[in-house]
Amino acid sequence: MNLVYEWRDAPQADFAVIGDPVSHSLSPRMHSAAYECLGLPYHYVAIRVDKGEVSRALEHLKAMGYKGVNATVPHKEEALEWCEIQEPLALRARAANTLNLQSRTCINTDAPGFLATLKGVDLPSNSALILGAGGSARSILIALAGEGYELKLFNRTRSKAIDLAQELELPSGTVLDQADPSGAGLIVNTTSASLQKEHVPLVWDRASTRTLAYDLMYAKEPTPFLAKAASMGMQTLDGRAMLMEQGALAFEWWTGIPAPRRAMAEALQ
Ligand code: NDP
Repeated sequence: MNLVYEWRDAPQADFAVIGDPVSHSLSPRMHSAAYECLGLPYHYVAIRVDKGEVSRALEHLKAMGYKGVNATVPHKEEALEWCEIQEPLALRARAANTLNLQSRTCINTDAPGFLATLKGVDLPSNSALILGAGGSARSILIALAGEGYELKLFNRTRSKAIDLAQELELPSGTVLDQADPSGAGLIVNTTSASLQKEHVPLVWDRASTRTLAYDLMYAKEPTPFLAKAASMGMQTLDGRAMLMEQGALAFEWWTGIPAPRRAMAEALQ
């Protein structure tokens, strides 16, 4: 658990993650490990911000001299709106997770960070089933569509999946009535079900053992989704890989220095 500051009580520092809740975030530990590894004199802290107060909080941190901020749930959209220069990918994803406060610029490192974690993974097909239709599903769908994946989407509230598929101009037939993984080389759980320690209603007996089950969530124990996938003999990956890659890309964008990925990954173990 982090020491968490309310934004009005933020200490002098260089970088921060803002969210609500934010006490569980591993970003302070990961970025601090990177600074320590390279001997950089920076401080990275966790700051809680209420929904609707993101602009005021960012103005405050900017005035205090903060260089950059990572925005996490539920602030990625408000963070995007605060910026004057928005990367096209962040605009399309309607989510900015990395901001340069002094230049009021933002990018989205979730989508490229996610793709980076798939490099070198042997997937049995380029068909992907995405579970969930929230903000991170949007980023993952944009990332995978850009790489030519054939996409399927399932969400417990079907209308949200339909809206998202339409917004992203995905082909008809993308939205499924049930979470059927037939033919999928990759299944990505972007839902918050794991956060609530709940199972997602996947038709498990139609999944191939060569399929990669990927949960954006991470916890000390495997999430219910990954525990079930592992028990079926499937490949598994949790959200720490993506957390590290999106953090490494943010570090590089802020500092212009190659990120010490090994030190950052070790800090997450
Ligand atoms: P959103 O709130 O935008 O979306 C949540 C989605 O989860 C919705 O589709 C919702 O369905 C679904 N959902 C919630 N509870 C359940 C449940 N019990 N069973 C089935 N579906 C459920 O969240 P985000 O997309 O922003 O984030 C989702 C998760 O991804 C979070 O846990 C977050 O921590 C994680 N994440 C991890 C990252 C990393 O670096 N590892 C990066 C970004 C996110 P409905 O529409 O029906 O409500």
